[in-house]
Amino acid sequence: MGLLYIVPTPIGNLLDITYRSINILKKVDFIITENIKYTSILLNQFSIKNKLLSLNIVNERKKTNQYIDILKSGNNMAIVSKAGTPTINDPGYILIKYAYHNNIRVVPLPGACAAITAICASGLKTNRFCYEGFLPNKKKKCETKISSLRKETRTIILYESPKRLEYTLKLIKKIMGVQRKITIAKEITKKWENIQRGTVEQLLLTINDNIYCKKGEITIIISGAKKKNKNIIPSRVFRIFKILKKNTSNTTAIKITAKICRFNKNILYNEIIKKNIL
Ligand code: SAM
Repeated sequence: MGLLYIVPTPIGNLLDITYRSINILKKVDFIITENIKYTSILLNQFSIKNKLLSLNIVNERKKTNQYIDILKSGNNMAIVSKAGTPTINDPGYILIKYAYHNNIRVVPLPGACAAITAICASGLKTNRFCYEGFLPNKKKKCETKISSLRKETRTIILYESPKRLEYTLKLIKKIMGVQRKITIAKEITKKWENIQRGTVEQLLLTINDNIYCKKGEITIIISGAKKKNKNIIPSRVFRIFKILKKNTSNTTAIKITAKICRFNKNILYNEIIKKNIL
Protein backbone atom coordinates (compact mmCIF):
# COMPACT_ATOMS: atom_id res chain seq x y z
CA MET A 1 0.00 0.00 0.00
CA GLY A 2 1.27 3.47 -0.89
CA LEU A 3 0.77 6.61 1.20
CA LEU A 4 -1.45 9.55 0.29
CA TYR A 5 0.13 12.89 1.29
CA ILE A 6 -1.99 16.06 1.52
CA VAL A 7 0.36 18.90 0.55
CA PRO A 8 -0.65 22.58 0.86
CA THR A 9 0.92 25.04 -1.60
CA PRO A 10 1.37 28.85 -1.32
CA ILE A 11 -1.63 31.20 -1.70
CA GLY A 12 0.49 33.95 -3.26
CA ASN A 13 4.01 34.09 -1.89
CA LEU A 14 6.05 31.15 -3.19
CA LEU A 15 8.32 31.24 -0.14
CA ASP A 16 5.40 29.94 1.90
CA ILE A 17 6.03 26.39 0.76
CA THR A 18 7.70 24.24 3.44
CA TYR A 19 10.93 22.19 3.09
CA ARG A 20 8.92 19.10 3.90
CA SER A 21 6.36 19.85 1.15
CA ILE A 22 9.17 20.21 -1.42
CA ASN A 23 10.73 16.93 -0.26
CA ILE A 24 7.43 15.06 -0.48
CA LEU A 25 6.62 16.51 -3.93
CA LYS A 26 10.06 15.33 -5.10
CA LYS A 27 9.90 11.83 -3.70
CA VAL A 28 6.30 10.66 -4.32
CA ASP A 29 5.56 8.54 -7.40
CA PHE A 30 2.71 10.79 -8.61
CA ILE A 31 1.30 14.22 -7.80
CA ILE A 32 -2.47 14.59 -8.09
CA THR A 33 -3.41 18.19 -8.84
CA GLU A 34 -6.47 20.32 -9.34
CA ASN A 35 -4.70 22.33 -12.03
CA ILE A 36 -1.82 20.88 -14.05
CA LYS A 37 -0.75 24.28 -15.46
CA TYR A 38 -0.46 26.00 -12.05
CA THR A 39 1.25 23.04 -10.43
CA SER A 40 3.77 22.77 -13.30
CA ILE A 41 4.76 26.42 -12.71
CA LEU A 42 5.14 25.74 -8.98
CA LEU A 43 7.23 22.59 -9.55
CA ASN A 44 9.48 24.48 -11.99
CA GLN A 45 10.16 27.17 -9.38
CA PHE A 46 11.54 24.53 -7.02
CA SER A 47 13.19 22.35 -9.71
CA ILE A 48 10.85 19.47 -8.93
CA LYS A 49 10.35 16.94 -11.70
CA ASN A 50 7.42 14.59 -11.21
CA LYS A 51 4.43 13.03 -12.92
CA LEU A 52 1.17 15.00 -12.67
CA LEU A 53 -2.34 13.55 -12.67
CA SER A 54 -5.49 15.67 -12.67
CA LEU A 55 -8.30 15.74 -10.12
CA ASN A 56 -10.92 18.45 -10.35
CA ILE A 57 -14.61 18.90 -9.52
CA VAL A 58 -15.59 17.52 -12.95
CA ASN A 59 -13.54 14.29 -12.90
CA GLU A 60 -13.21 13.74 -9.12
CA ARG A 61 -15.63 10.80 -8.85
CA LYS A 62 -14.37 9.12 -12.01
CA LYS A 63 -10.65 9.47 -11.23
CA THR A 64 -10.82 8.57 -7.53
CA ASN A 65 -11.09 4.79 -8.11
CA GLN A 66 -8.22 4.93 -10.59
CA TYR A 67 -5.96 6.74 -8.07
CA ILE A 68 -6.98 4.38 -5.27
CA ASP A 69 -5.80 1.47 -7.47
CA ILE A 70 -2.46 3.22 -8.04
CA LEU A 71 -2.07 3.69 -4.27
CA LYS A 72 -3.10 0.08 -3.62
CA SER A 73 -0.38 -1.16 -5.94
CA GLY A 74 2.22 0.46 -3.67
CA ASN A 75 2.77 3.91 -5.19
CA ASN A 76 3.02 6.97 -2.94
CA MET A 77 0.96 9.95 -4.06
CA ALA A 78 0.61 13.61 -3.05
CA ILE A 79 -2.50 15.68 -3.59
CA VAL A 80 -2.17 19.45 -4.15
CA SER A 81 -4.67 22.10 -5.22
CA LYS A 82 -4.22 25.20 -7.37
CA ALA A 83 -3.26 27.10 -4.22
CA GLY A 84 -3.64 26.60 -0.48
CA THR A 85 -4.78 23.50 1.32
CA PRO A 86 -6.40 20.70 -0.71
CA THR A 87 -10.05 19.91 0.21
CA ILE A 88 -10.69 23.43 1.58
CA ASN A 89 -13.07 24.57 -1.15
CA ASP A 90 -10.92 22.47 -3.44
CA PRO A 91 -11.08 18.82 -4.59
CA GLY A 92 -9.74 15.95 -2.52
CA TYR A 93 -12.42 15.04 0.01
CA ILE A 94 -13.73 12.03 -1.94
CA LEU A 95 -10.24 10.68 -2.63
CA ILE A 96 -9.29 10.95 1.05
CA LYS A 97 -12.54 9.30 2.18
CA TYR A 98 -11.95 6.41 -0.23
CA ALA A 99 -8.33 6.13 0.87
CA TYR A 100 -9.55 5.42 4.42
CA HIS A 101 -12.13 2.93 3.11
CA ASN A 102 -9.23 1.08 1.45
CA ASN A 103 -6.94 1.20 4.51
CA ILE A 104 -4.54 3.57 2.78
CA ARG A 105 -2.60 5.79 5.19
CA VAL A 106 -3.33 9.52 4.76
CA VAL A 107 -0.45 11.84 5.75
CA PRO A 108 -1.45 15.50 6.19
CA LEU A 109 1.14 18.29 5.92
CA PRO A 110 0.43 21.71 7.47
CA GLY A 111 0.66 24.81 5.31
CA ALA A 112 -0.94 27.81 3.64
CA CYS A 113 -4.71 28.24 3.87
CA ALA A 114 -6.42 31.57 3.15
CA ALA A 115 -9.18 31.00 5.74
CA ILE A 116 -6.79 30.37 8.65
CA THR A 117 -4.29 33.06 7.62
CA ALA A 118 -7.11 35.62 7.32
CA ILE A 119 -8.81 34.84 10.64
CA CYS A 120 -5.46 35.02 12.49
CA ALA A 121 -4.95 38.55 11.12
CA SER A 122 -8.58 39.65 11.54
CA GLY A 123 -8.35 41.05 15.06
CA LEU A 124 -11.64 39.24 15.71
CA LYS A 125 -12.09 36.33 18.13
CA THR A 126 -10.24 33.21 17.04
CA ASN A 127 -11.16 30.87 19.91
CA ARG A 128 -14.33 29.66 18.18
CA PHE A 129 -15.00 30.02 14.47
CA CYS A 130 -16.93 28.47 11.60
CA TYR A 131 -15.85 28.24 7.99
CA GLU A 132 -18.65 28.66 5.45
CA GLY A 133 -16.71 28.75 2.16
CA PHE A 134 -18.41 30.69 -0.68
CA LEU A 135 -21.95 32.03 -0.29
CA PRO A 136 -24.49 30.71 -2.82
CA ASN A 137 -24.64 32.60 -6.13
CA LYS A 138 -28.42 32.92 -6.29
CA LYS A 139 -29.74 36.02 -4.46
CA LYS A 140 -32.51 34.23 -2.52
CA LYS A 141 -30.22 31.39 -1.38
CA CYS A 142 -27.51 33.89 -0.45
CA GLU A 143 -29.96 35.88 1.70
CA THR A 144 -31.20 32.68 3.36
CA LYS A 145 -27.61 31.64 4.12
CA ILE A 146 -26.70 34.99 5.69
CA SER A 147 -29.97 34.94 7.68
CA SER A 148 -29.06 31.47 9.00
CA LEU A 149 -25.74 32.90 10.21
CA ARG A 150 -27.27 35.99 11.88
CA LYS A 151 -27.34 34.45 15.36
CA GLU A 152 -24.08 32.49 14.95
CA THR A 153 -21.90 33.43 17.95
CA ARG A 154 -18.67 32.04 16.50
CA THR A 155 -16.49 34.14 14.18
CA ILE A 156 -17.50 33.40 10.57
CA ILE A 157 -15.06 32.87 7.67
CA LEU A 158 -16.26 33.37 4.08
CA TYR A 159 -14.51 33.20 0.74
CA GLU A 160 -15.79 35.80 -1.70
CA SER A 161 -15.17 37.17 -5.15
CA PRO A 162 -14.12 40.84 -5.14
CA LYS A 163 -16.81 41.52 -7.77
CA ARG A 164 -19.47 40.48 -5.26
CA LEU A 165 -17.90 42.11 -2.23
CA GLU A 166 -20.10 45.22 -2.17
CA TYR A 167 -23.25 43.18 -2.78
CA THR A 168 -22.36 40.74 0.02
CA LEU A 169 -21.50 43.53 2.47
CA LYS A 170 -24.85 45.21 1.72
CA LEU A 171 -26.65 41.96 2.48
CA ILE A 172 -24.66 41.52 5.71
CA LYS A 173 -25.58 45.08 6.70
CA LYS A 174 -29.27 44.46 5.94
CA ILE A 175 -29.47 41.10 7.72
CA MET A 176 -26.86 41.29 10.51
CA GLY A 177 -27.08 45.04 11.23
CA VAL A 178 -24.88 48.09 10.58
CA GLN A 179 -22.67 47.54 13.61
CA ARG A 180 -21.47 44.02 12.71
CA LYS A 181 -17.66 43.99 12.76
CA ILE A 182 -15.91 42.73 9.63
CA THR A 183 -12.36 42.18 8.42
CA ILE A 184 -11.66 42.02 4.69
CA ALA A 185 -8.36 40.20 4.02
CA LYS A 186 -7.37 40.85 0.43
CA GLU A 187 -4.44 39.37 -1.49
CA ILE A 188 -2.84 37.97 1.66
CA THR A 189 0.84 37.07 1.28
CA LYS A 190 0.91 38.93 -2.08
CA LYS A 191 2.37 42.29 -3.14
CA TRP A 192 -0.92 44.19 -2.74
CA GLU A 193 -1.87 42.57 0.55
CA ASN A 194 -4.47 44.71 2.27
CA ILE A 195 -6.40 44.14 5.50
CA GLN A 196 -9.35 46.41 6.28
CA ARG A 197 -11.31 46.32 9.52
CA GLY A 198 -14.42 48.08 10.72
CA THR A 199 -18.17 47.85 11.00
CA VAL A 200 -19.94 46.70 7.86
CA GLU A 201 -21.19 50.27 7.39
CA GLN A 202 -17.68 51.78 7.61
CA LEU A 203 -16.28 49.21 5.18
CA LEU A 204 -19.02 49.86 2.64
CA LEU A 205 -17.96 53.53 2.60
CA THR A 206 -14.26 52.69 2.12
CA ILE A 207 -14.70 50.09 -0.58
CA ASN A 208 -16.88 52.42 -2.65
CA ASP A 209 -13.94 54.86 -2.76
CA ASN A 210 -11.45 52.20 -3.80
CA ILE A 211 -11.47 50.95 -7.39
CA TYR A 212 -8.86 48.26 -6.59
CA CYS A 213 -11.40 46.51 -4.39
CA LYS A 214 -12.94 44.89 -7.47
CA LYS A 215 -9.75 42.88 -8.11
CA GLY A 216 -7.73 40.18 -6.35
CA GLU A 217 -8.66 37.44 -3.90
CA ILE A 218 -10.69 38.11 -0.79
CA THR A 219 -11.53 36.39 2.46
CA ILE A 220 -14.19 37.96 4.68
CA ILE A 221 -14.20 37.48 8.45
CA ILE A 222 -17.39 38.39 10.33
CA SER A 223 -17.52 38.75 14.11
CA GLY A 224 -19.98 36.41 15.80
CA ALA A 225 -23.32 37.63 17.17
CA LYS A 226 -23.19 38.82 20.75
CA LYS A 227 -24.52 36.23 23.19
CA LYS A 228 -27.70 37.30 24.97
CA ASN A 229 -27.30 37.10 28.74
CA LYS A 230 -29.78 34.39 29.74
CA ASN A 231 -29.63 35.51 33.37
CA ILE A 232 -31.14 38.95 32.78
CA ILE A 233 -34.20 39.07 34.98
CA PRO A 234 -37.22 41.05 33.74
CA SER A 235 -38.47 43.83 36.06
CA ARG A 236 -41.86 42.09 36.57
CA VAL A 237 -40.02 39.35 38.53
CA PHE A 238 -38.76 41.90 41.08
CA ARG A 239 -42.27 43.41 41.31
CA ILE A 240 -43.68 39.96 42.17
CA PHE A 241 -40.95 39.50 44.79
CA LYS A 242 -41.72 42.90 46.37
CA ILE A 243 -45.45 42.09 46.64
CA LEU A 244 -44.75 38.65 48.15
CA LYS A 245 -42.19 39.86 50.68
CA LYS A 246 -44.80 42.16 52.28
CA ASN A 247 -46.67 39.05 53.47
CA THR A 248 -43.93 36.50 54.01
CA SER A 249 -40.21 36.09 54.81
CA ASN A 250 -37.54 37.09 52.27
CA THR A 251 -36.49 33.45 51.80
CA THR A 252 -40.04 32.26 51.11
CA ALA A 253 -40.70 35.24 48.81
CA ILE A 254 -37.59 34.39 46.77
CA LYS A 255 -38.56 30.69 46.60
CA ILE A 256 -42.13 31.45 45.44
CA THR A 257 -41.03 34.12 42.94
CA ALA A 258 -38.41 31.75 41.50
CA LYS A 259 -41.04 29.04 41.17
CA ILE A 260 -43.69 31.27 39.57
CA CYS A 261 -41.24 32.87 37.12
CA ARG A 262 -39.20 29.69 36.50
CA PHE A 263 -35.89 31.23 37.57
CA ASN A 264 -33.03 29.68 39.48
CA LYS A 265 -33.52 30.86 43.06
CA ASN A 266 -29.79 31.43 43.68
CA ILE A 267 -29.46 33.67 40.60
CA LEU A 268 -32.60 35.52 41.66
CA TYR A 269 -31.23 35.93 45.22
CA ASN A 270 -27.95 37.37 43.90
CA GLU A 271 -29.79 39.85 41.66
CA ILE A 272 -32.04 40.91 44.54
CA ILE A 273 -28.95 41.53 46.72
CA LYS A 274 -27.34 43.53 43.87
CA LYS A 275 -30.50 45.64 43.54
CA ASN A 276 -30.62 46.12 47.31
CA ILE A 277 -34.35 45.30 47.59
CA LEU A 278 -34.29 42.74 50.40
N1 SAM B 1 -7.87 25.77 -0.77
C1 SAM B 1 -7.66 27.19 -0.70
C2 SAM B 1 -7.14 27.55 0.70
O1 SAM B 1 -6.68 26.67 1.41
O2 SAM B 1 -7.16 28.72 1.04
C3 SAM B 1 -8.92 27.95 -1.04
C4 SAM B 1 -9.41 27.71 -2.43
S1 SAM B 1 -10.83 28.65 -2.86
C5 SAM B 1 -11.22 27.94 -4.39
C6 SAM B 1 -10.15 30.20 -3.36
C7 SAM B 1 -10.64 31.37 -2.49
O3 SAM B 1 -9.83 31.48 -1.32
C8 SAM B 1 -10.52 32.73 -3.17
O4 SAM B 1 -11.59 33.00 -4.03
C9 SAM B 1 -10.49 33.67 -1.99
O5 SAM B 1 -11.78 33.86 -1.49
C10 SAM B 1 -9.67 32.84 -0.98
N2 SAM B 1 -8.23 33.19 -1.14
C11 SAM B 1 -7.30 32.46 -1.76
N3 SAM B 1 -6.11 33.08 -1.74
C12 SAM B 1 -6.30 34.24 -1.06
C13 SAM B 1 -5.46 35.32 -0.70
N4 SAM B 1 -4.17 35.34 -1.05
N5 SAM B 1 -5.98 36.35 0.02
C14 SAM B 1 -7.28 36.33 0.37
N6 SAM B 1 -8.12 35.34 0.08
C15 SAM B 1 -7.65 34.31 -0.65
